[in-house]
Amino acid sequence: MKTILTGLRSNSMFTIGNYLGALLPMVRLAEKHSKDSHFNLFVPDLHSIISEVDGGDLQANIMRNIKFYLAAGLPLNENVHVYRQSHVSAHSEICWILNCTATMGELNRMTQYKDKSDGKSSVNVGIFDYPVLMAGDILLYDAEYVPVGEDQFQHIELTRNIAMRFNNKYGEVFKLPATTADQVKFMGLTEGVRIRDLQNPEKKMSKSTAAENSKIMLDDDPAKAAKKIMSATTDSLGKIKFDMWGQPGISNLLQIEAMVTDTPLQDVISTWAGETRYGDLKKKVASSVQQMLEEFQGKLAEISDDEVYSILETGEKYANEVANKKLYEVQKAVGLR
Ligand code: ATP
Ligand code: MG
Repeated sequence: MKTILTGLRSNSMFTIGNYLGALLPMVRLAEKHSKDSHFNLFVPDLHSIISEVDGGDLQANIMRNIKFYLAAGLPLNENVHVYRQSHVSAHSEICWILNCTATMGELNRMTQYKDKSDGKSSVNVGIFDYPVLMAGDILLYDAEYVPVGEDQFQHIELTRNIAMRFNNKYGEVFKLPATTADQVKFMGLTEGVRIRDLQNPEKKMSKSTAAENSKIMLDDDPAKAAKKIMSATTDSLGKIKFDMWGQPGISNLLQIEAMVTDTPLQDVISTWAGETRYGDLKKKVASSVQQMLEEFQGKLAEISDDEVYSILETGEKYANEVANKKLYEVQKAVGLR
């Protein structure tokens, strides 16, 4: 049985962009594949402490992250395994061994590292080394597919290189994850949909953007979120048309409407084709977003901590079994056992 592995860092509250573009697609993948594949959904909490955690409350963020998946409809069958990285100690242990296979040169070439360390006088070692931790996250479970954003593709290739080098030196211990080209095919999209910034629709919506009106957070008061849609930047062309380059604001609204109502984008575009009143479109999208948030927040409120702990107990038992088995093989291959 194949293994699909994915996770999202829990450093802060999510935007509807994170929800629609990352979290929901993961839940859909789990629905589609968990009948005949293992679906490992882990909270990369060791990755979280590489940078500041908003509000400083990592525990609360971790619990909320898992509840988000549950509220989004994550199927809970015997093939879906939810676990916290820090509760499977093999992740930390294998990271050290893989550190001794990875090279400074290849880690130095990671663009994420270059971006994140650029212009800083002091950079923690975790920022440099986290791609190796990530390689371990994948290799411990023989994961074949690792749905990630484009910014992580280089790390998937790195994982393949580290695994190949290890296998050449110590014997065939690791299964290589699929190439990034095959990962993209598996995800079914060449590039994920990007929800745009409401005030500057040329840019994507980001949780770290300071302007509150630019983004809708999952915990926004639904009525307030509707107001943000009403004040979204559009244009003065006076026609409703999907054209991301020429009319990014209007196109973004059409895109949001399609995604929050789970309607094919083409259908939304046809519904509004030829219309000229931007106010009508905004009212419709505002009410759809409001309704989506009301439903989501309602579901979220119903999930108890106890339910999450019980899911984690089962998931972490499974993860420890699988990961420790692989770790032992690795230790034996190296001569540590
Ligand atoms: P930051 O401003 O801190 O970079 P972000 O909102 O860009 O935050 P990330 O933590 O970088 O979020 O990414 C988390 C996930 O959300 C990734 O899978 C990323 O591809 C996805 N994502 C981020 N922004 C959007 C967006 N506007 N639309 C769709 N998906 C998004
Ligand atoms: Mg980002």
